[in-house]
Amino acid sequence: MPSAKELISYEERWGARNYKPLDVVLTRGEGVWVYDVDGKKYLDFLAAYSALNQGHCHPRLVGVMREQAARLALTSRAFRNDQLPLLEKELCELVGFEKMLPMNSGAEAVETAIKMVRKWGYKVKGVPEGLAEIVVCEGNFHGRTTTIVGFSSEYQYRDGFGPFAPGFKLIPYGDAAALEAAITPHTVAFLVEPLQGEGGVVVPRRGYLGAARDICAGRNVLLAADEIQSGLGRTGKMLCYEHEGVKPDVLTLGKALSGGMYPVSAALSSTEVMDVFKPQDHGSTFGGNPLGCAVAREALKVIVEEDLCGRAAELGAYLLDELDKIKGPHVELVRGKGLWAGIVLKEEAGGARRFCEALMRLGVLVKETHENVIRLAPPLVITKDEIDWALERLAVVLSAEVPEKVRPRA
Ligand SMILES: *Cc1c(COP(=O)(O)O)cnc(C)c1O
Repeated sequence: MPSAKELISYEERWGARNYKPLDVVLTRGEGVWVYDVDGKKYLDFLAAYSALNQGHCHPRLVGVMREQAARLALTSRAFRNDQLPLLEKELCELVGFEKMLPMNSGAEAVETAIKMVRKWGYKVKGVPEGLAEIVVCEGNFHGRTTTIVGFSSEYQYRDGFGPFAPGFKLIPYGDAAALEAAITPHTVAFLVEPLQGEGGVVVPRRGYLGAARDICAGRNVLLAADEIQSGLGRTGKMLCYEHEGVKPDVLTLGKALSGGMYPVSAALSSTEVMDVFKPQDHGSTFGGNPLGCAVAREALKVIVEEDLCGRAAELGAYLLDELDKIKGPHVELVRGKGLWAGIVLKEEAGGARRFCEALMRLGVLVKETHENVIRLAPPLVITKDEIDWALERLAVVLSAEVPEKVRPRA
């Protein structure tokens, strides 16, 4: 077996450089714990950006994955299979939507939502052909396709990848008045994350989503919530928008929808909106395949039966409280909801990366988002003792004058 150093050198030599991962080479995972190739154990406090809400290699998911892989993995949508109908029914009933459309990656679910709301705009609302507008927010993250990065406000996500699709209008996040002002007769949808994850765990002020809901309803504009990261328990509710007591017209899900086993995503809406799609309008070779559907069905059951929403609410409140007590010289503020926190570092802290590297040496895996935010998002199966284990190490690193000097106790 090649060493960690060799594996890293292969990746540097043969792999595209589109990521800058921490230099930890993982080989095994179980629940909240992962192990590197030298057998060192780490607490995963990122959970693959919330794709692992159910934890690593959940035994129920591994079981279903094995069983379904040996039975039937792919049919394509040319034929029907016996898993997709059950996922459609179970997911729609769980989140209270009439229809769903299965895809694979989150970006594909968002692309599906974009196609859906545009076609609804032309065929139902009566927007003149080619003029549909979608309002989106500064600091958004909806994926990496060319259409999606085209409406990112992040310079690097766009730089070098144009020309971009027109028809998107950026407004400040959390500003309902800006939404009202941005809507024109050609506006078909407002696409928004109820809580911006990649943007730095940005929680909008209370009432924002409710105001957006009312504005959209009043102007015949669809409210499309991207809950690919915020959904499925992360914030202490099944969907983050439930905190505000609103329901969007369109919903995108991904990440934890398959508990990290296999890419499964979905776009959901009412029958009226979904029915703009006719046969041949849209699709995916792998979308809705029986392997993904079987795993997703079980992943949803795990969230419900293990009360991951309740755990996130309770343990998340504890985590945020404890983080607030860790003052330290570098922390500007801590924000979050449920088991999801952003530790915003001061300008002069020298970036979040050095803190993530110090935490890695102490056995806690986290990742910076943007320059100066440490994002915490452990699997929702985590226990209070495990949170305390991480908090001890967070306290050491955040109170260190120089995080580079932090070394594990021998
Ligand atoms: C991760 C994410 C996506 C994109 O999902 P991929 O599976 O990486 O394509 C879209 N929207 C949000 C809010 C996300 O967090």
